[in-house]
Amino acid sequence: MSSPSADAFAQWRQRAESLNIRSQAFIDGRFTDALDGRRFDCVSPIDGRVIAQVAEGGAADIDRAVAAARRAFEDRRWAGLAPARRKAVLLAFADQVARHAEELALLESLDMGKPISDALSVDSPATARCLRWYGEAVDKLYGEIAPTADDTIATITREPLGVVGVVVPWNFPMIMAAWKIAPALAAGNSVVLKPAEQSPLTALRLAELAAEAGIPAGVFNVVPGFGPVAGQALGLHPDVDGAFFTGSTEVGKLFLHYSSQSNMKRIGLECGGKSAHIVMDRCQDLEAAASAAAGAIFFNQGEMCTAGSRLVLHKAVKDQVLERLVALAAGYSPGHPLHPATTMGALVDHRHAERVLGYVDKGRAEGARVVCGGERAEPVPGGAYVQPTIFDQVTPKMTIAREEIFGPVLAVLTVDSEEEAIAVANDSDYGLAAAVWSDDVSQLHRMTRRLRAGVVYANCYDADDLTVPFGGFKQSGIGRDKSLHAFDKYTELKSTWLRLR
Ligand code: NAD
Repeated sequence: MSSPSADAFAQWRQRAESLNIRSQAFIDGRFTDALDGRRFDCVSPIDGRVIAQVAEGGAADIDRAVAAARRAFEDRRWAGLAPARRKAVLLAFADQVARHAEELALLESLDMGKPISDALSVDSPATARCLRWYGEAVDKLYGEIAPTADDTIATITREPLGVVGVVVPWNFPMIMAAWKIAPALAAGNSVVLKPAEQSPLTALRLAELAAEAGIPAGVFNVVPGFGPVAGQALGLHPDVDGAFFTGSTEVGKLFLHYSSQSNMKRIGLECGGKSAHIVMDRCQDLEAAASAAAGAIFFNQGEMCTAGSRLVLHKAVKDQVLERLVALAAGYSPGHPLHPATTMGALVDHRHAERVLGYVDKGRAEGARVVCGGERAEPVPGGAYVQPTIFDQVTPKMTIAREEIFGPVLAVLTVDSEEEAIAVANDSDYGLAAAVWSDDVSQLHRMTRRLRAGVVYANCYDADDLTVPFGGFKQSGIGRDKSLHAFDKYTELKSTWLRLR
């Protein structure tokens, strides 16, 4: 007799075979091929199979999408609706995502390799929640009246930016897109989204669901294609009012050039990280700290901008935490992503797996010690899997302590004081997240204040809510996603003076 999880595994694989995958660009309310007819292979990292051939958008396709978005914006078919009407459509969009949560989760898992159970419990619901949250928010935002002299009235209102370009990575394809398109659409903008070439499938399905929910033609366009072609064309486009990017710091910097070389469009950047996760000697619940540390580097195959990739352990607790961590790492052995019990899936592709393993080689060569993992894994032939890997004896100058690996590779650094922990944690070009564990409240406050990061956790690592802004200090980015602060990116402030007679 087969087990329930074996049955579920068989069912997911069967559903994968019969999926109707959308593979054309979505421009001006309909699916369309690239103008030059080009397509690229969409390869599943689960087993290396080609699962779709996707329209390869070029500069001419970006032009078409921007023109459609501009027309939609100028005739006010969306921007001119009362906020309560836009809210109703966004709530319907969220409902559509919730209704198709399983299909979207399956597409995400096939496309970029994450475990189906994570895609189902995290990616699909978080996407629906985000659309709903910004839909709900938009008819509760008020403007201001400035305290000017008696003979004038000055109102301060928020207006949509206009045509917004969005470029996102492949680690959470739907969620990263939703964090931007939800506030952008809620505010009345028209959007052109370029998903990562490694993971275009859910974005295309989202466009269709948005149209079914009532988002008018031209308001939400999706153009799949390669970064240096379609992404660059969007960044450089003279008729795009703002470009909002999530991805590597290296490419994020290019967007600043694109803006300066074109029309000074507004740029928002959510970039890389090398986050420090500190466990102090005054932390008593080492079990909880170790379990959070494992989740912070192994969840989503370590393909997390906020990965707690530098574990900074006080020497008094180091051995105990490390021992627990190695035991916990065994629970993240890579498995078939469509098996419901799998906790670590495939990396996004073989190129990325090679890059991650290149860092493992560098770590060894520079003198760090592998305490577990460090090799490829092959739970499914042809797939891109890497074992959960922990390095001990890492020093702050080693490459694996400085560069973002974006895979399941943890660098453990040892310190012997609060001062040293802060110095090591802040010794980074990045400043996305940081965490500290201690049962001494004063120490927690002292340390969280001094950590130079946009998101700081105390005695936890995975706390998350749409009400809280997300983004980085230093080279981790410019601007914030999530919360009402996100509207700052997608709106212009307008001051209007009225002289009273
Ligand atoms: P990437 O920078 O290579 O690609 C991101 C996006 O930019 C993709 O859509 C890609 O096609 C596009 N792109 C690539 N080259 C381009 C170019 N020359 N011009 C315009 N667009 C271009 O990043 P990735 O490998 O897809 O994702 C991993 C990175 O994303 C990591 O650095 C990670 O930390 C970061 N990330 C950050 C956050 C955050 O919120 N701070 C969240 C998730 C991922």
